[in-house]
Order: sequence, then structure tokens, then C-alpha cells
Amino acid sequence: MDAIQTREPDSRPASGSAADDPSPMVSIVAPVYNEETILPELYRRLTAVVDGAGESYELILVNDGSQDRSLDVMRDLRAQDPRVKVINFSRNFGHQVAITAGTDYARGDAVVIIDADLQDPPEVILDMVKRWREGYDVVYAVRAEREGETWFKEFTANVFYRLITRITNVDIPMDTGDFRLMDRRVVDTVQQMREQHRFMRGMSSWVGFRQTGVEYVRRQRYAGETKYPFRKMLKFAIDGITSFSYLPLQLATYFGFFIASLSLVGIVVTIILRLSGSTAFFGQASTLVSVLFLGGVQLIFLGIIGEYLGRIYDEVKGRPLYIVAEALGFDHEQR
Ligand code: UDP
Ligand code: MG
Repeated sequence: MDAIQTREPDSRPASGSAADDPSPMVSIVAPVYNEETILPELYRRLTAVVDGAGESYELILVNDGSQDRSLDVMRDLRAQDPRVKVINFSRNFGHQVAITAGTDYARGDAVVIIDADLQDPPEVILDMVKRWREGYDVVYAVRAEREGETWFKEFTANVFYRLITRITNVDIPMDTGDFRLMDRRVVDTVQQMREQHRFMRGMSSWVGFRQTGVEYVRRQRYAGETKYPFRKMLKFAIDGITSFSYLPLQLATYFGFFIASLSLVGIVVTIILRLSGSTAFFGQASTLVSVLFLGGVQLIFLGIIGEYLGRIYDEVKGRPLYIVAEALGFDHEQR
């Protein structure tokens, strides 16, 4: 425990907080959407971990427009323990935006993002803090194993992480989620990135600095159901890819060249066949099939352009990322 409490001289400098402003060392941010049954247990587990390690901390719960009693439970927790702080959104803005708001409001020298459903074991935070004290700026948690997830989720996640690592030029580590610790300077940098369609795990890789991973076993949900049905997962995957890669757009070019060369060969072959008196490639079917095929391909690429265009439109509007209905426990200026 001692090793965790003492700061090594040339590792982490204290962030620029004034002496009369006892900045909590670690801010823990948990996005919450309809997790009333989980919150007390989350609080219990997190407190046991950080208190046991003698860490000073704040726990920021972001209520992302829950329709259940989550907000009431958060208020109760806050009444018990002022280290619990609550951001209440005016409606559901989505997981990634909830994380963003939590990090915006966090004051810690390090910020840990953790899912509220206890799939990310709070005990791993201690490993993260340890690596952070060694001088790492981002410590992400790598899923060595997943418990109790459907094969479908596991399979799609596997494909997705392998795909995104290949097609982006950002070094997004495999099998990591948003469960990670970020140093203050990383948080400040990520905070400047106000893009609407957010892929936070990619963004925190993109900033660079010293990054490392710690392995963990992803647990089952403590209670309740996933808030990520397939539709949302797909949208999130497309957000991740479009945020960090132009490849889908460039595919049109590659495909265009490929089809054009194929047609060129086709033209030459047809001319030769005609000259030699063959009747192959006559008739409507071949015409219809090739026209329909190319029509389909063009529509797909129009759709891909549309995906990027819509995202550009969202950025250009420059709306705020989220609207806070109330913030409990924050006395400082917020963006
Ligand atoms: N979440 C959120 N807003 C949403 C959906 C989810 O804040 O619109 C929270 C949710 O309460 C949980 C975390 O994001 O703390 C991860 O969601 P979930 O566990 O449902 O996703 P999964 O682990 O199944 O991918
Ligand atoms: Mg979960």
C-alpha cells in the first residue's frame, strides 16, 4: 500500500492546483443509464477499493437520461458521501457523451472511466494507478477474457477491433474498451476534441503520450441488461471507423479502377469474339445484370459518402455535446 501512496520524485508532478484547492487525486467517472439496481453495489465496491488503498478520490456519476430511479439512488449516495458527485443530463445523450461530460467535470490528477454495470472490476483501478505512478499517461484495460457475453457479441467485437486496427492509422489497442485511466494532461487534450461522434477509446489513443495496458477479465453484468442492442453497436462501430479512417470512401476509387480495368478486358474480349463470329455476350440478361450490379455498387458508395456527409453536417452545426440539467457537488467553473 505504501508504494501506492508515495509519489516518486520524477514520476507524476502534481497538477497545477492551488494549495487551498485540495484536488482529488483520482476522479472516477461512471456513465449511468437505467442502472438503479447496480448503483449501491458499484459505490460499495469502488469505495472498498479506493479507501483500502488510501486514495483520495471523487466519484462522478453521469445520469444519461435514465427513466428508472437511478437519479434518486445517486442523490441518496451523494447524501451519504460528498465525494459522490452527480451530473444529470437533460435527456439521453449516449454513453460516449456521458463519459465526455464526466471527464469535463473531473478535477483529479488522473481520471478513470469505468462502466457502471461492474463488468469492469473496480479492483483493476489499483493496477492502473500503479502504472500511472510509474509515469504512464494512459493505462487502458485489456480484456484477457470475457465472461457471460453472447458468442455474437464476442464475435462482432473481435471482428471490429481487428478491422479498426487495420484500417486506421491510429494505434488503437486490441480488445480494449473505455475502461482506462488518463493522466490530467491527456484529459485536457481530449477535452479540446469536441467532435460530435465520439469514439473515446480511439481519441485517447490518438493523443499519444506514454500508453500501456493492464489485463483483466471482463465480468458479467451485475444486474440488468445491456444498453447496447445491435443497432447501437453498429452505429458505434461506424462512428469509430468514420472518425479515424477514410478507407470506406477510398474503396470507391479502388473499386472503380478495378471495374474499369475489368470492362476494358471485357471490351477487348467481346470485339475479338464478334470478329471471330461468336454470339456469346448477346442478349438482355448480361446487360441487365451488369447494370444492376453497378447501380447497386454506386448506391452503396453514395450511402458511404452520405455517412461522412451527415457527420460533417453534425460537426458544422457545432451544437453543444450535451445539456446538463443539474450538477451536484461541483463548486468550480465548468465548460
Ligand atoms: N450507458 C449510458 N448511456 C447509454 C447506454 C449505456 O450511459 O445510452 C452506460 C451504461 O449504464 C453502462 C455503460 O454505459 O454503465 C455501458 O453500457 P452497457 O453495459 O449497457 O454496454 P455493454 O457493456 O453491454 O457493451
Ligand atoms: Mg456492460
